[in-house]
Amino acid sequence: MTLSIPVFRPRLNELSRKFATDALWAGEISGTSGHYLLEFEREFAAYCGVKEAVAVSSGSTALHLACVIAGITHGDEVLVSALTNIATANAVVQCGGVVVPIDSDPDTWNMNTDLLKAKITSRTKAIIPVHIYGHPVDMAPIHRLARKYNLIVIEDAAEAHGAEYLGARAGSLGDMGCFSFYANKIITTGEGGMLTTSNSDFADRARYFRNLAFGSPRFLHRDVAFNYRLTNLQAAIGLGQLREIEDVIQLKRDLAYRYIYRLQSVPGLALPVEREWARNVYWMFSMVVLPTFGISRDELMRRLLAVGIETRTMFCPLNLQPALMNRGAVNKDTCPIAENLWDNGLYLPSDPYLSDRELDWICNVIAGCVP
Ligand SMILES: *Cc1c(COP(=O)(O)O)cnc(C)c1O
Repeated sequence: MTLSIPVFRPRLNELSRKFATDALWAGEISGTSGHYLLEFEREFAAYCGVKEAVAVSSGSTALHLACVIAGITHGDEVLVSALTNIATANAVVQCGGVVVPIDSDPDTWNMNTDLLKAKITSRTKAIIPVHIYGHPVDMAPIHRLARKYNLIVIEDAAEAHGAEYLGARAGSLGDMGCFSFYANKIITTGEGGMLTTSNSDFADRARYFRNLAFGSPRFLHRDVAFNYRLTNLQAAIGLGQLREIEDVIQLKRDLAYRYIYRLQSVPGLALPVEREWARNVYWMFSMVVLPTFGISRDELMRRLLAVGIETRTMFCPLNLQPALMNRGAVNKDTCPIAENLWDNGLYLPSDPYLSDRELDWICNVIAGCVP
C-alpha cells in the first residue's frame, strides 16, 4: 500500500541547492580541501562549541574513527547505551572491543548513569552515551567516572544536533562527538557524518585516519587507515542546512508540543520528557504503550498502518542483538527497561512540516484505539 504519512519526509532547502550547484560549477567535487568542506567543518564546530570538526562519510564511520582514536583494541570493554542504533556497537566491535550495554532510564530512555559504576572493570576503556531521540544524556556522573577511571567519553550525537545539556551543545560534552547526516537526521547530506572535538591531537588523528593515513613522502603509509571522506558536494548540501538548523529544531520542538498537547489526555501512553537541564530536539517523536492503554503496541502499529500512517518500533537493545551475541562481543546481562522499550515503544511520523490536519488525524486514530 502507499503510505499517506511516512515517519519522515526528507526536505532540502533553497540554500543547499544553491551551494550544491555552486560546488558543481566550481568543479570542487571531492577531496579534503574543498571550500564547502572546510566551511561546513568550521561552522559545525562553532555551532557545537568545539575547536574542531572533521567531516566523514557517515555517522557509523564517525563512531568507528572515534573508537580507533580512543585506542580501543582487542578485549577492551566499552560501556554503551543499550538502546541505540546498531552502528554504535559496530564501531566498538570493529576495533575488537566488547560492548557492555547499560540499561535505560525509564523516563528519558537514555543510559541510566547509576548503573555505570558496577560495570567498570580493569578492561574498561571508554563510555559511549547516546543522546537517544534527541534528549541529551545526564553527563555529570559520566564525567566523574571518566576522570576517576581514566576513560574516554565518546558521545553518539547522531540524533541530537543542537540538543543541549546545561546550556552546552551535544558534540561538546565528551572527548569526541559523533554525528550522522543520514536522510532522516536533523540535517542531512544524504549520507555523511562529523566527528567533533576540542582536542587538537584527536582532530589531527581523525583527519589522518579518515584519509588513508597518507604519510611523508605521501605514498609511504605507516598505518592501516580508511577512506571515510565526505565529498565537497555533500558538504555544500550540509552547509546550506546548517545555516537554518535552528529553524528545523524549532519545528521539531513545536511538533513535539503539538503531539504532547493532543496525546497527554489519552490514558496509557508514556510521552517523551525534557529534563530541566536539557534541550530536547525531539529527533523522532517516541512514546511507550503501557498496559493500561488497552491494546498492545503491535496492534496500535497495525491499526495506524491500516489507514496509511507509518510508525517504527524503538531500537532492539544491544544485549539482544544476534550479530553481537554470535561473536561473543556483548555482555548479555539483561536490560529490563530497554527490553520493555523494544517491546512497547514506537515513534510516530516526525516530519517537522507535518500539517495540523495530519497531526489531528494521527492523534484521533490513536485516541480511537482506547477501548
Ligand atoms: C543514525 C544513527 C547512527 C548511524 O549513522 P549513519 O549515518 O546511518 O551511519 C548511529 N547512532 C545513532 C544513535 C543513530 O541514530
